[in-house]
Amino acid sequence: MSKEENVNYAAMWTWAHFDPRRTLFLLRMSWRHWRAQRRHRRQQRRINGTIPSVLAISPTMRCNYNCQGCYSRGRPEDNELSTDELNALFSEAEDLGIHSVVLTGGEPLLRNDMLDLIAQHRRLLFFLITNGSLITPDIARHIARNGNLIPLVSIEGFASDTNERRQPGAHETALRAFGHLSKARAVFGFVATNTSANSSQLATDEFIDQIVAIGCAVGFFTEYVPCGPNSRPDWVLDEAARAAFRNRVLAFRRHKPIVLSQFPDDEYGKENRCSGAGRVSLHINSQGDIEPCPFVPVASENIRHGGLIAGLPVDLPACHSRTTRVASAPSLRLFSL
Ligand code: SF4
Repeated sequence: MSKEENVNYAAMWTWAHFDPRRTLFLLRMSWRHWRAQRRHRRQQRRINGTIPSVLAISPTMRCNYNCQGCYSRGRPEDNELSTDELNALFSEAEDLGIHSVVLTGGEPLLRNDMLDLIAQHRRLLFFLITNGSLITPDIARHIARNGNLIPLVSIEGFASDTNERRQPGAHETALRAFGHLSKARAVFGFVATNTSANSSQLATDEFIDQIVAIGCAVGFFTEYVPCGPNSRPDWVLDEAARAAFRNRVLAFRRHKPIVLSQFPDDEYGKENRCSGAGRVSLHINSQGDIEPCPFVPVASENIRHGGLIAGLPVDLPACHSRTTRVASAPSLRLFSL
């Protein structure tokens, strides 16, 4: 990636330096990230293989919305990972030097154990994607206290786009959630799915200025991928729309005080290739299956059989069979910093 395509660190600083709480958050996250990277390098050397640095986890596929085009509708909702299983997964991720976990779904806040679990794993930075409907003032204060969690409230642009894709009133609900988070002085952001239907609205100064005024520190644009029984192939961007949107994001990065990421463009990077399937990231679904990414629901491994390490593309010496690799997983804790 060229320099201008990198994450806008100037925006991060503009966002943080007027507010001691934000500055502290940023410094704490940078310190933890640095330590995680050291652990990550060390563990990769130890297993002689590749450990992703980011995990996407769907703790549940249940949702109280039924948005058009949602990739997760129609996935099985039973047999969810238990609290203990999620706890073990987060511990393993910390020990492996994974630094970020994106909680998606489904609606992760439908699980009552979510915020307490996050609080127990402070070496990880969590991004929690939510429709915002369950964010009350109490939940917002809980999120702000956690200190290692950035909720990303889903919004599709202005009111008409959000209400049309999600459900009537969804935009107002998202704005209410932003308000509670802002009042609680949490660090929060938005996530928007970029489709042929809303791309031109998302790419306006007006939208970004509105979102900055709301108090969002970060924003994620994810390009629509048709997937699942609800898919909308007509929402796929064509090349011209994709290039135009990329140019707008790069322009926003130069001028707007918000840290913006755009997927898949930012993910593809210099090598212009997908970073899923364990290269940089992996997806664990609500039943523990290890998938290349949330949009590719295929798996041959499950964390219930040997933990996360069992599904990684490790390259241990020939004497290490699958069984011994699994058995050695708990010992990773001994090698962590
Ligand atoms: S897009 Fe999100 S909020 Fe909407 S149905 Fe899917 S999981 Fe639920």
